[in-house]
Amino acid sequence: MQPTTPLVWNPILRQYLVNAPHRMNRREGVTACPFCADITEGRVSPETQVWLHPNDFPPLQPPVGEAYVVIYSRDHHRTFIQLTVDEVYAVTLLWRDLYRDLASRYPTVMIFENSGESIFVGCVQNSTRACIR
Ligand SMILES: [Zn+2]
Repeated sequence: MQPTTPLVWNPILRQYLVNAPHRMNRREGVTACPFCADITEGRVSPETQVWLHPNDFPPLQPPVGEAYVVIYSRDHHRTFIQLTVDEVYAVTLLWRDLYRDLASRYPTVMIFENSGESIFVGCVQNSTRACIR
């Protein structure tokens, strides 16, 4: 069963807030990397260097929003500044395409970057996140 993404009205802030308690249990005790699995399980072709991985624990779900992870490189331990110019170009094209696609369906698109061990149990990753609402 897919968790829902209820928006909860906060009368103090006078705005809706995302209530996503299912994210508290993400990947606890799991050491397998979902991005390496994209490669080893054939979800991306051998030629693919940059790809979108649907967020396995999205804070927002349709019709409220969507969330993806942009994988910069098959060697996703590399940081953005370690990419070649051609690789950076490929990442920016994917950012652009993702933004255009999501902006056609949602009023707000937020693209941001997370990196480092503290954001994912068992796997260092360097990637962009896109949460949309
Ligand atoms: Zn990995």
